[in-house]
Amino acid sequence: MFRYAEVLVDVANRRLDQSYHYLIPENLSLNIGMRVLVPLQNRKVQGLVVNMTEELPEGMEGITFKPILEIIDENSLVPPDLIELAHWLAQTTICSVAQSLHTVWPLLNGKIEDWIVLLVSIKDADVQTLQWLDPEAFRGLKVLNRARKKAISVKVFLKRAEISEGTLEKLIKQGWVRKETRFVTTGDYASPDPITRPGQNNRGKGYSSRTDRIYDLTEEQAAVVRDVLSILEEGSPQTVLLYGVTGSGKTDVYRELITQVLDQGGDAILLVPEISLTSQVARYFETQFGEQVIILHSGLRQSEKTKAWQDILAGHKRIVIGARSAVFAPLPHLRLIILDEEHDGAYKQDENPKYHARDVARKRMDQRKGVVLLGSATPSLEAYAAAQSGKIRMLTMTTRIGASVLPPVEIVDMRDELRQGNRSIFSLSLQQKLRERIDRGEQTMLFLNRRGYSTFVVCRECGYVVSCSNCDIALTYHTQGQAMRCHYCDHKELPPHTCPKCGSRYIRFFGQGTQRVEEEIQGLFPEVPMLRLDFDTTRSSEGHNRILDKFRRQEALVLVGTQMMAKGLDFPNVTLVGVIAADQTLNMPDFRARERTFQLLTQVAGRAGRSTKPGEVIIQTYSPQDSAVMRAAHHDFQGFFWEEIRYRRERKYPPYTHIIRVLLMHEKEDRVIKGANDLGACLRQGMQDPRFGNNEMDILGPAPAVLSRLRNQWRWQISIKGTRQDLLRSFLHQGVQRFFKNPASGGIILNIEVNPLTS
Ligand SMILES: [Zn+2]
Ligand SMILES: [Zn+2]
Repeated sequence: MFRYAEVLVDVANRRLDQSYHYLIPENLSLNIGMRVLVPLQNRKVQGLVVNMTEELPEGMEGITFKPILEIIDENSLVPPDLIELAHWLAQTTICSVAQSLHTVWPLLNGKIEDWIVLLVSIKDADVQTLQWLDPEAFRGLKVLNRARKKAISVKVFLKRAEISEGTLEKLIKQGWVRKETRFVTTGDYASPDPITRPGQNNRGKGYSSRTDRIYDLTEEQAAVVRDVLSILEEGSPQTVLLYGVTGSGKTDVYRELITQVLDQGGDAILLVPEISLTSQVARYFETQFGEQVIILHSGLRQSEKTKAWQDILAGHKRIVIGARSAVFAPLPHLRLIILDEEHDGAYKQDENPKYHARDVARKRMDQRKGVVLLGSATPSLEAYAAAQSGKIRMLTMTTRIGASVLPPVEIVDMRDELRQGNRSIFSLSLQQKLRERIDRGEQTMLFLNRRGYSTFVVCRECGYVVSCSNCDIALTYHTQGQAMRCHYCDHKELPPHTCPKCGSRYIRFFGQGTQRVEEEIQGLFPEVPMLRLDFDTTRSSEGHNRILDKFRRQEALVLVGTQMMAKGLDFPNVTLVGVIAADQTLNMPDFRARERTFQLLTQVAGRAGRSTKPGEVIIQTYSPQDSAVMRAAHHDFQGFFWEEIRYRRERKYPPYTHIIRVLLMHEKEDRVIKGANDLGACLRQGMQDPRFGNNEMDILGPAPAVLSRLRNQWRWQISIKGTRQDLLRSFLHQGVQRFFKNPASGGIILNIEVNPLTS
């Protein structure tokens, strides 16, 4: 018998996002996920029941609790497993349950309003006399009487009845109306009907059975489908890594699996890394599944999202295709979640709750005893290592469909270019091949790393890069103070005048933008039409598509851009792909820099020669001997993996450890530095606690963040690293509590992230 309920109050209002405990009256048949009316400081407010217990939580004994007043919805508004998911999310990403719940169940978006409820009958004799005694008050009651359920928001009421606030106060004092606080959902969302399941035979409109399949699976693809299905039949939660080389036909495998899952009465989610890819993929799936497919992502309007949610809950839509946030789709019979390109950083959310879609998918399939399928040609180190250690299963596809072959890759040593007197950012080889393409009317794509906000110091004669002796990460050059710094441990040194390795004077910081590349091409080939695709030219996703469409229509011969070009789309006329400087990714101040480089180069190389015209790839670098570059050029994932995993183990980086990063922000630099040092001291003090002391936990920093100043805020960071995530969390919690007891911490904003993907 549950006696206490934990109620999340005013869930839409961030300032009040707190849970309180209430007594459950005996006559109330309450369930988790129901909305209720509860008393809160002389007010009545709406809340959502997020937990029910027999006993009070520790430390709450002896407190008296108020009872819940009423149940608002007869059915649970939010399914209990999604509430459990929200709790899990709050705990693992270290944010509030309310924030998590908003993410899991975005329809809670709404606002708090004061409402007026009519308490008397308009036919009451006393009320009738008002007609002559106080016509204004009577007009108000009449307006209320006409309202739906005899209630209306105060704002609308005053306007519609054209009465003063004084008159309203009078009505309240007389006990004829009541003022209450309500939670109002935006959009026209009503709580859904109890979930009903369409029968096995009722497959909905537009369903074509498996016999209509318009594709044939190869033996390799069919084997993967069979294996995943038999894993599904085991009925225990599982994660499967599908490691298939580019062009091995993973999408057909997804489609066949979804067909089978639907046949067995289940539902499925297919995630892709970018919103801009969803419609493309959905079109492909709609040819077979028709109207059962729905697209879900954060870019939808609230009304579209509401409609989608209702259709999904009612069982009209059974295949959800979307970006990261679609992992929360409330499909009633979810059995399979597929993450295509699972290694992609876009699966990690930057804002609270800072979740990774892969972790959420695994948690959801733990709840439902279903399967998570991770697909990639360049799996994340985490996933591949988990497969190697037997924690998850792995299936492989090694043959490319059709006659397509991987393009030849040439690595150009930029140190040689300097020796030959070429100071351009284009090697002679790239210039020559570019000219050939222009003469033949074929297209070229030129890649640069994301708009560079970090610069490193490199010797242009021997390729030596200055890096931190503690962390093995490239040091970042800061124009302020003209020093180089490590963003993990704050090791500092001055940039050398001559290369410590070869003595050259050509050692300097490195930073190139897409604009610079554009200018240099215009210098070399003044008449050539070109397009630029980067953060500046694609503020909106529309701008993104417009530029790519122009390029597809061959309105330009050269496209210069960042890695946003690397995903998805095929351009049949592209026969040359150039990477201007692999070093930019390779020397990011991040232990994942080499993994990123390998993934990017592999993806980029896959862009060339997608049709009958053979393609070519040129990678320019000052580190031609680096294995991430060499392995990518040879499409050798395994070779790369074993080298990289050894480095991670030696340096105690994930997946061998977990990292929690705390970012401190303040408008004043001295305040944030002091705050960071104070927090560091508070954390180090916690090491004396025997629970944490001998658990091989490391505190890194404080150090300035890579973006040391953003939106008028100075930013410093501290990271803690250790093998057990639960211990790290409670260790951090303790340290942060101690930190906030100190008045000097006032005004400092903390931003906590578990296992961040960026530095
Ligand atoms: Zn050198
Ligand atoms: Zn360091």
